[in-house]
Amino acid sequence: MRSDTELPGWFRGMLVGGAAIALFILETRQTLRAPRREDRAIHTGRNLVIAGLAGVVMNLVETPLLRRVARHVEANELGIAPHVTRHAALRVIVAVALLDYGLYIWHVLTHKLPWLWRFHLVHHIDLDLDTSTAIRFHFGEMLVSVPWRLAQARVVGSSPLAVSVWQTLLLISILFHHSNVRLPLGVERWLRLLVATPRLHGIHHRSEQSCLDSNWTSGLSVWDFLHGTHRWREDEQPLTGVPGYQEPRDVTLKRSLALPFRAMRCPSGDSVNL
Ligand SMILES: [Zn+2]
Repeated sequence: MRSDTELPGWFRGMLVGGAAIALFILETRQTLRAPRREDRAIHTGRNLVIAGLAGVVMNLVETPLLRRVARHVEANELGIAPHVTRHAALRVIVAVALLDYGLYIWHVLTHKLPWLWRFHLVHHIDLDLDTSTAIRFHFGEMLVSVPWRLAQARVVGSSPLAVSVWQTLLLISILFHHSNVRLPLGVERWLRLLVATPRLHGIHHRSEQSCLDSNWTSGLSVWDFLHGTHRWREDEQPLTGVPGYQEPRDVTLKRSLALPFRAMRCPSGDSVNL
């Protein structure tokens, strides 16, 4: 059976939009990290503008190219998934899991390659970690990630259906694990063994380097376990953000958009060229 369809746009929008609204409301009622360092309306509005620009790049560049590659891959049975199983549903599951692993590797690269870190830094300097941080990615990061995404789809052997399932689950996952929702600790202690959770990903957003170098997964926790980068702490959530960018004036819309093209700051606040 060929799975040459995609999840309908309205269905994906309903799932992702529903998750975003639910998390946005929940995090005001069961707050994990408090007090906030910026006004919530200003913070959310700024992140929506940054996300909107990234969304334009995704819609104009990534989505059409990814769709084209996925159709070609499916028509010619290329990549890993078609060679693992002949069962259509299993192929989708295998492809989604491998796409998730590909994103884990990409996330590591965005931290380790200085020219990529310039772009990913825009996401990390957010002073308050919440649902809107999940979509705070510089449009440049989206643009430079396109070749990686296309290569992922080709190597994994991802059909258009698998791509659409992965994108939908990914969006829900990143909204969830960036959210400021306080889950019962007992629940999260177990859940983080399976998937990225708010406390677990909050550790990745701490300002200490050892924390930045952990919990890179955007979905399944198995990739961090596999690479020894899973880190769990149950103490109170301290400062998020990046040393050198800890003041509200460092994260304004204008500065955030210009950030990748400026000299970077070291923890002391001095500028450094990478
Ligand atoms: Zn990161």
